[in-house]
Amino acid sequence: MGEFELIRRYFEPLSHQGSGVLLGIGDDAALLQPMAGKSLAVSTDTLIAGRHFPLQTRARDVGWKALAVNLSDLAAMAATPRWFTLALTLPEVDERWLREFCEGLGALARSAGVALVGGDTTRGPLSMTLTVLGEVAVDGALRRSGARPGDQVCVTGTLGDAALALRLIEEGAEVDAWLQGRLNCPQPRLKEAHALRHLAHCAIDVSDGLAADLGHLLAASEVGAVIRVERLPRSPALMAHQHRRPCTALMLSGGDDYELCLSLAPEHFEAARAALALMGTPLTAIGAIRAEPGLVILGPFDRPVVLPSSGFQHFR
Ligand code: ADP
Ligand code: MG
Repeated sequence: MGEFELIRRYFEPLSHQGSGVLLGIGDDAALLQPMAGKSLAVSTDTLIAGRHFPLQTRARDVGWKALAVNLSDLAAMAATPRWFTLALTLPEVDERWLREFCEGLGALARSAGVALVGGDTTRGPLSMTLTVLGEVAVDGALRRSGARPGDQVCVTGTLGDAALALRLIEEGAEVDAWLQGRLNCPQPRLKEAHALRHLAHCAIDVSDGLAADLGHLLAASEVGAVIRVERLPRSPALMAHQHRRPCTALMLSGGDDYELCLSLAPEHFEAARAALALMGTPLTAIGAIRAEPGLVILGPFDRPVVLPSSGFQHFR
């Protein structure tokens, strides 16, 4: 099968959802019509086989996750996703792999209401680069730079699950379906971000570990924070493992959580928590913003926790 047949068969079907597409797949460029008065939010992320997902990951999960990690960035801006492009590099044309990849990609694209509007298809080691485009009210985006001293630091969902799943897979241990889903099929927190867009002062998505990503948010806001390990939200699955292995490092620097970390005025916490509870998503206050720069993590008996390394960085 040639490149164009492949595009027609697998990728064009993903282009028929969403609106604002004046011209989709097939020409030299897509033509998109943003809504009047909105800003475009644009974000790109690459996934490389063996680096961002284990080589044995199912194609369906790869498709889902490739889009999920990109949508998570739009969620962190409180933007509404509309369109995306896919630059896909494949070692060979494996139709079964492609079909399943597009099933995962398509399932999330449908539920998030985003249309595939273009891309590129090349031969080489398996990797994919997606660019997502979303809309947000002018001045309505949640930036990293809005945290204020006195704010509460909050996170959605639970932390460390994906890192625990990855660790167990690497050890060849049993991983139950829920935990595996946390690694392979993260749910970008789009509706949560939408609900909190007027309450939160700032947000970041937790992709490289809470300590690192909260650190970025603090640096951008020119503030510091004190958070408490005992308050970090943990899932029943993680708690079940806690007596066998220390999970604090997984929650603080495990990565791949795709939860939101945000700050808001303490008097708005209850309204924010209640709004997310309606969606079945926990919101947990884990500490406070303060003027003094730096992130302080307090463990048992108020002893500061020192992390071996803070977040994943390529080339380090
Ligand atoms: P060009 O040679 O002009 O770069 P291509 O031959 O790469 O065009 O692509 C032809 C059309 O198919 C373009 O509209 C492009 O956006 C689309 N396309 C190519 N690969 C993909 C893909 N993986 N997903 C979605 N659209 C794709
Ligand atoms: Mg091309």
